[in-house]
Parts: sequence; C-alpha cells; structure tokens
Amino acid sequence: MAIKKRVMVSVRKCVLYLSKVYVSGNTFASLIGAVSNSGTNDLTINQFSKSDGTSPDPSKSHKSGRNGDLRYLRTDEGGSAVILGSPNVAVGRQNQLNNSLHLFGWKDMISGRFNGGLLNHISSSKERGIKSDHSNHLHLQGYSPNVQVDYLGGTLPEVVVKPNNEQ
Ligand SMILES: [Zn+2]
Repeated sequence: MAIKKRVMVSVRKCVLYLSKVYVSGNTFASLIGAVSNSGTNDLTINQFSKSDGTSPDPSKSHKSGRNGDLRYLRTDEGGSAVILGSPNVAVGRQNQLNNSLHLFGWKDMISGRFNGGLLNHISSSKERGIKSDHSNHLHLQGYSPNVQVDYLGGTLPEVVVKPNNEQ
C-alpha cells in the first residue's frame, strides 16, 4: 500500500516518569503521531501502565498501556505541573494537541471545566461522577485507533505513523 503521508517527528522535550509509563507499541505510535501532528514539543506524560501492564495506584483504568495521564501544556513550555484554569495553561496549544490525540485514537478524554468551558474532545469528570477532578492532568481512554503503523526494515526500524483517514 502506498504511504500517503509521513509524519516527521521532532520532539524537543518529552518527560517520562519511567516507573509508570509502559505504553503499548501502537499507543506509543499514536502519541508520537499526535505530538508531531500538533507541533507539541513539551509533552509530560504522568503515567500510563506499569511494566507488567497493570494500572498504577490510585488509577484503575490505566491497563495494558492504552490509557494514561498527560500534564496540561504550559505557556512557558516548561513541562511542569499546572492547574487547569491557571493563566499558565496554553489553552490554544492544548486544544490542538487534543484534536490530534483524538485523530490518533483516543476517543474518550476526561478533564474538568474551567471558566465555564471544556477543552476540545473532552468530557467533564465531575459531570460523569468521577472522583478526581482532573485539574492537574488530562486522562486519555477509549483508545480506538484508526492508524496505520509501518515498520520499514533495518536494524533501527523506521516507523511511519499516519491516520488511516482524516476524520
Ligand atoms: Zn488517568
């Protein structure tokens, strides 16, 4: 099959808390695709799964490296923690990242309301009766990717990630 679009990946900073970030292969490809597609250079991943695929406490749903938590993007691109509603949250960039996360597979993202609104593709944890208000992290679930991942030979495989169709 012809490859229509290659995603060039340039990530300046991606902070991982290694004890809690087992990410499945396709999930990692989707993360790279979303980060690249949105031009995000300052992603901080709080946690996905533990190395055996179980969910780190207190989360219960972070199984099999598919669901996870991301910090909100900051206006200073520093990657440190920030609370939703703070002027330090880069709302426009976060919405672009959310659009890309949705495109690359996460169909159910959970966050909170701030200033009366919600980020793109988000539902409110409070309105869904979820305990955590997600004020300091975005939760990704509902991973149902429509992406194609090609590994192209060599000792260091070239990885190509693209959405199968633009939705
Ligand atoms: Zn979570």
